[in-house]
Amino acid sequence: MGGMFGVVSTGDCVTELFYGTDYHSHLGTEYGGIILRNREGFDREIHSIRSTQFRSAFEEDIGHMHGNSGIGVISDYEPQPLFQETHLGRYGIVTVSRINNLEPLLRQAFNQRVHFSSMGHGGVNPTDVISYLINQGSTLVEGIQNALAAVQGSCSLLLLTDSGLYAARDRLGRTPLVIGRKEGAYAVATETCAFPNIDFEIVRDMGPGEVIRLTEEGYEQLVPPGQELQICAFHWIYYGFPASSYEGINVEVVRNRCGAACARRDMAAGDTQIDLVAGIPDSGTGHGIGYAEQARIPYRRPFIKYNATWARSFMPEEQRLRDLVAEMKLIPVRELIQGQRLLFCEDSIVRGTQLQDTIQMLYDCGAREVHVRPACPPLMYVCPFLNYSRTKTAMALAARKAIHEVAPEEADLSPYLDSASPRYQEMVDRVRQRMRLTSLRYQTLEDMVAAIGLPKERLCTHCWDHSSHF
Ligand code: SF4
Repeated sequence: MGGMFGVVSTGDCVTELFYGTDYHSHLGTEYGGIILRNREGFDREIHSIRSTQFRSAFEEDIGHMHGNSGIGVISDYEPQPLFQETHLGRYGIVTVSRINNLEPLLRQAFNQRVHFSSMGHGGVNPTDVISYLINQGSTLVEGIQNALAAVQGSCSLLLLTDSGLYAARDRLGRTPLVIGRKEGAYAVATETCAFPNIDFEIVRDMGPGEVIRLTEEGYEQLVPPGQELQICAFHWIYYGFPASSYEGINVEVVRNRCGAACARRDMAAGDTQIDLVAGIPDSGTGHGIGYAEQARIPYRRPFIKYNATWARSFMPEEQRLRDLVAEMKLIPVRELIQGQRLLFCEDSIVRGTQLQDTIQMLYDCGAREVHVRPACPPLMYVCPFLNYSRTKTAMALAARKAIHEVAPEEADLSPYLDSASPRYQEMVDRVRQRMRLTSLRYQTLEDMVAAIGLPKERLCTHCWDHSSHF
């Protein structure tokens, strides 16, 4: 998906930029990049972070880089930041975006005889296209507004200029941006977990479509926020770092509430007898703790994640190898598994193949029963708004495969979206059978939305119910 960090300071800000950007490392696996502005001009570095942590990749650079303002990015797709010399002045740019209408935008640009350089693996750099849209404006603010309005998908961005740092949040707020402050410095981040250890405190979340300009003295609002918010609900369920908050709502707290809601459903049904609760590390942990606390059943770690040699998520191209890497990280503790009735909380079931292997490992270690409680409803649609790479095809989703198995001709998915309908139960039972689970009960959409705590119409829940504003 990607994450960004920007800072403007009365002193040198390279340390803040380095650590602030590094705290977004969980959001991308392809490129890391920073650009600083100093008296001599702009200083930029970009590195691949496919097999090296951001921190190791940039350790040497920060020794010789300096500046009073800077922006950084962890990118899941294109190399960034870009540096542009334009009629609006020079600027560095980073984006968290997905452009669904790339083709028409490129046609429009080519008709104006604008060209773009190709990326190493071919194709146009999406951030370059966003720069082109900005450069259509007669001012930076007009250009930024043009870019936010023209991109179908999502687009949040930071611009480092000679007159301050411009920050713009996606027009529907699909991805977050939060303003931070400390003595002599202002910052903006996708993830608020970037702030505490570099001594920033949260000022406030930016609103959807809002544009601000930060300087070391403060910030000014250049475009007020729009009314409509469609922040991705998955930030709380899976993407987000547990120590982060969006719209003032902390991720770990939401995960605890999700787990507690699953426990309440089970307790009301009275059909789940278990010995211990666990979370599939890492994103299932908060959900599991919430479940255990609510059900008053011990929380244990029957799997321990081995992080020492897998510090950076090594991400091979092939899905089979990615699953293998994920599996190799989890080491079972036989003493906690043998003869036990275990309940696992998981953030979500995407394709289900990796979870299936994990469950097999539990049975191999002597588990008596394995129950799974995903913290969100069955995933039915792929994401059209973010560079969400967990799967690209809807038919690869575990729930969609199950529907295809029980009703190969089924075109209408609506009965499968209603957790009270027999078809929904049939679909869930098919997923359960394939995974060899003792029981499987998904979170309901209502409980997930209540756990987040925003009104449903302020959240994007398109993955689950196809209901979203475009
Ligand atoms: S479709 Fe899903 S992943 Fe994409 S923004 Fe909406 S909730 Fe998030």
